[in-house]
Amino acid sequence: MERADVVVIGAGVMGTSIAYHLVRRHAGRIVLLEKETVCSGTSAKSSAIVRTHYSTRPTAAMALLARRMLERFREDAGGESGFRRTGMLFIGAPAEADGVKKTVEMNRELGIESELITPVDVRRIDHLLEPADGAPLVWEPRSGYGSPHEVASTYARRFTELGGVLRQAAEVTAIETTGGRVGGVATPVTRIAADHVVIAAGPWAQRVGQLVGLRLPVMASRQSIVTLRPRFAYDDGHPIVADLANEVYFRPETGNLILLGNTRHGDDRPGDPDDYQDRPDAGFVEDVVTRLSRVMPASAEAEIAGGWSGMYEISPDWNPIMGTVSAISGLHYCVGFSGHGFKLSPAAGLLMAEQVVDGRATTLDITPYRLERFEEGRALKIAYARAGVIA
Ligand SMILES: Cc1cc2nc3c(=O)[nH]c(=O)nc-3n(C[C@H](O)[C@H](O)[C@H](O)COP(=O)(O)OP(=O)(O)OC[C@H]3O[C@@H](n4cnc5c(N)ncnc54)[C@H](O)[C@@H]3O)c2cc1C
Repeated sequence: MERADVVVIGAGVMGTSIAYHLVRRHAGRIVLLEKETVCSGTSAKSSAIVRTHYSTRPTAAMALLARRMLERFREDAGGESGFRRTGMLFIGAPAEADGVKKTVEMNRELGIESELITPVDVRRIDHLLEPADGAPLVWEPRSGYGSPHEVASTYARRFTELGGVLRQAAEVTAIETTGGRVGGVATPVTRIAADHVVIAAGPWAQRVGQLVGLRLPVMASRQSIVTLRPRFAYDDGHPIVADLANEVYFRPETGNLILLGNTRHGDDRPGDPDDYQDRPDAGFVEDVVTRLSRVMPASAEAEIAGGWSGMYEISPDWNPIMGTVSAISGLHYCVGFSGHGFKLSPAAGLLMAEQVVDGRATTLDITPYRLERFEEGRALKIAYARAGVIA
């Protein structure tokens, strides 16, 4: 039978990052199995925003580590990430001003460049923007956006160049265990014995967990993006904006487009990541475009250019689920990134490689993300009531 030291299940931004960091750690024979192709899952649908404004301390720390890794991606990973620095303006809901202030203080303690600014500053940053009266305003000069395809394909290429084995069209259909230890995996055509198995299956996490009787509380939920073609020039000179007063986020997109998404959560419904409508509903488009025009009035004249839908992989507290299964040694999970995993993927891969090789992550502590937190009543607390995706 084929043998591996580690099998990684899923080749989105997470699985490719984990696999790459494992070969960098000389963790033996690493096999990365993907049921479709590299970066074909939720990573392909991402808005790819890279920010550090997080109200959850460990996630803010992970976002900072990851953004620094994206800034030096070529030197570290040997390829492109598509990272472009635009800065990000965060507009809080007026009722949540205290939470925003505390988040900025905590972010700054971690070394994140973040400051509370005024409406006059906003006009200087982007004259098109008119934030709601009384909304707290935060400027993050080092934020931007990247390219999931470039990140995943760089990690996958370097992984194979460094001796890793990548198999596409290879769906894991069984995870084998013996005596409280993981034994390996099976696909329809082969069995691979392995000392370690890492589940990085994005919105399919729950299904892959079920293969071994593991309950991973990850809800796949459809989310839509609209692109708009404005009549004015709109390029990377404009910042990313997350506006919780109007519950939208947006950024420049290639081709003079505005990429527009929704931050209104709480009524998200479970969906099937293998069978969903891959385009926004007309009602959603009208609603989200109206909300955008409140913060960027000039956008009211913009044409609808297109859009798509993808699947968030929502955990109960909108934060990642990372660690090792306590009842099955050698079985690890890196899932539940809740619509904000692209930016975290470089750091998550590094930390999971440490977890597998050293028995615990050392660059940052990932124990707050362990699966057991939900049963122990230690779910992470997020500050923004309806905008789980900001976490
Ligand atoms: C509309 C939208 C906008 C988003 N915007 C942002 C953003 O602005 N910033 C940000 O940071 N994040 C954003 N995200 C979230 C981000 O894209 C995800 O958190 C991230 O891509 C998750 O990566 P992943 O590798 O875990 O999942 P995936 O990319 O889904 O990868 C999992 C892989 O596992 C494979 N797989 C599943 N089952 C099996 C099996 N049995 N055997 C083998 N392979 C299997 C799948 O085919 C898939 O390729 C957004 C997501 C969406 C949908």
